[in-house]
Amino acid sequence: MELFPYLSALLIEEVERRPNQVVLRTRVRAMTGCCRCGHSSARVHGRYVRRLRDVPVGGLGVVIELCVRRFRCENPACTAVTFAEQIAGLTTPHSRHTPLLRGVLTQIGLALAGRAGARLAAVGGLTVGKDTLLRLVRSLPEPEVGKVEILGVDDFAFRKGRHYGFDRHGHPPAAVPLRLP
Ligand SMILES: [Zn+2]
Repeated sequence: MELFPYLSALLIEEVERRPNQVVLRTRVRAMTGCCRCGHSSARVHGRYVRRLRDVPVGGLGVVIELCVRRFRCENPACTAVTFAEQIAGLTTPHSRHTPLLRGVLTQIGLALAGRAGARLAAVGGLTVGKDTLLRLVRSLPEPEVGKVEILGVDDFAFRKGRHYGFDRHGHPPAAVPLRLP
């Protein structure tokens, strides 16, 4: 049984233990990459190292250092000259967290927004800023209005710039747009 099944597309070449974290140095097993146009390519144009934070193991933060290849797309009809490989289920463009860690941080952010959430995360070996927690919650898709059954006055709802809760200085919002059923 694999220890990290969600890393099965990667070869772990080195594991470095640092005082507060474990660094996994990895590369992708596949010989080719697939462009967004659907064509696969084996023509490597360059490489760079990308860092993804993952859920802690044994109380230590985990960083996946991924050697990412940039391939040349050989499809003449494609507008992309080169493309960086993405690993299905693990990387998305610009993301700095694995989906597993992103899910954990989003749940912490939903339960305890801001500094309280950051403090709780630190107990579990996760270092995260309050702004990152808020950004993850804000990036969630909008819930359907019909799903909101009970909305208490203490509820925080950070959604696309709307802010129903008291702010971090303890000030109430100027207007509380409560919609009663
Ligand atoms: Zn292409």
